[in-house]
Amino acid sequence: MVRIDLHTHTTASDGSLAPEELVQMAKQQGVTTLAVTDHDTIAGLSRARVAGEQVGVDVIPGIEISCLYGDVELHILGYFINPDDPHLAPALTRYWASREDRNPRIVQRLQELGCDLSYADVKAIAGSATVGRPHIAQALIRKGYVKSVSEAFDRYLADDAPAYIPRLLPSPAEAIGLIRQIGGIPVLAHPVYTSRLKEPFEQVCATLKGLGLLGIEAIYSSHNRQQTDRYRSISRNQGLLVTGGSDFHGEAKPNLLVGTGYGNLVVSSDLLEPIRALATGRPDPS
Ligand code: AMP
Ligand code: ZN
Ligand code: FE
Ligand code: FE
Repeated sequence: MVRIDLHTHTTASDGSLAPEELVQMAKQQGVTTLAVTDHDTIAGLSRARVAGEQVGVDVIPGIEISCLYGDVELHILGYFINPDDPHLAPALTRYWASREDRNPRIVQRLQELGCDLSYADVKAIAGSATVGRPHIAQALIRKGYVKSVSEAFDRYLADDAPAYIPRLLPSPAEAIGLIRQIGGIPVLAHPVYTSRLKEPFEQVCATLKGLGLLGIEAIYSSHNRQQTDRYRSISRNQGLLVTGGSDFHGEAKPNLLVGTGYGNLVVSSDLLEPIRALATGRPDPS
């Protein structure tokens, strides 16, 4: 079976591999098509594309945009986006500004909680990347306050932890609309992380579909068989595409590999044609 992976991060956001290293790892893992989907940035795409051409991995230009549905954060993946579309840059500048507003406040909260940490420590880890909570987690590890990224989230950074600060997020209508506007296919990422939604999941999908959503990431590293089957059937019932990916981040998610996830992820290349057909406006041959 030909293996693909439609959800990966690089050092352009909170992944630990450079775009070239990510593509190399995909090649080693037998992944023939790779979507690079960094949080709120396209900065890694062109390097990934060049590397993909060199080693023979097809790189799909993608993005992952966070948005707020009621008070629950949802992530929307965008596939086959046009990174040069003039509508994209102003939106990404706004999302970047909301992170720049929030991240120093998280660090301040951590200081109040007794952690001797500065925002410069976090920036030193993130470099030119879009700063995310995983970078703050790395800084906490370096300073010896926690042993792992997951401990940093559990004790400090998760949505229900003491150093959590919400950031200004776009609405689902804006996130989905932007992806459509720049020629992309919007897909709801990791549906398993939507348990805080107050409405039934099916209803949320129907609402998102009304806003232009075209698919659900039914196949995901941390989904078990029942979850995968359930999300597949919801996708089918609602006329949404099924997609799949690992959400590879490198060091921030230890033991999770490109293509194989935690070991039993299987994303078949059969999923690709319907997505590509929608993106190019061709009728789906199946
Ligand atoms: P941010 O974009 O700054 O809000 O950070 C969110 C990112 O942190 C997510 O996309 C995940 O990559 C990561 N993340 C969220 N929750 C956890 C967790 N409990 N453990 C490890 N990483 C997490
Ligand atoms: Zn991430
Ligand atoms: Fe996500
Ligand atoms: Fe992700």
